[in-house]
Amino acid sequence: MSDTLWAPWRMDYITSPRTPECVFCAAAADIPAQNAHHLVLAATDDDFVILNRYPYAHGHIMVCPRQHVSGLGELSFAAQRSLFRSVVAAEALLRQALQPQGINIGMNIGKAAGAGIAAHIHVHLVPRWEGDTNFMPLLADCRVMPEHLRETWHTLLSHFAHFHEHLRDPAHAEAP
Ligand SMILES: [Zn+2]
Repeated sequence: MSDTLWAPWRMDYITSPRTPECVFCAAAADIPAQNAHHLVLAATDDDFVILNRYPYAHGHIMVCPRQHVSGLGELSFAAQRSLFRSVVAAEALLRQALQPQGINIGMNIGKAAGAGIAAHIHVHLVPRWEGDTNFMPLLADCRVMPEHLRETWHTLLSHFAHFHEHLRDPAHAEAP
């Protein structure tokens, strides 16, 4: 996924020393969000939405189960359903907040599949725009990234404040 996007700040991620602690578990432990330190945007009892600190594209977010599992089948049915409902809500809010022309949604299960943190599964949502492979080098200056991330987090947060409204089943919505 997103092989064609040029994201040189990911080198910082690849070359920086790894802490044994799982960053997703650390973020989950600090919920209730919305948590600026971990860039968490929203949470349910089973999972949470977090901005990717090492994005492939502007507005790259992830939905993570709270449980530290390396495969979908290790989640309970309830946690599986919750995860997908959170992905659906996150897609809607990402569209609303950034108006992308497309979104890549996917998972990399296992290191061989490209997972950066294979031990704790997560679903990527990567907003896309026509020609964004040309746009991305504009954001390539690593010095602007922390500020860029904070701004993006605040922009998204104003929309993700309505996350739980998007978890309601439209089929069971009450008639006006
Ligand atoms: Zn974990």
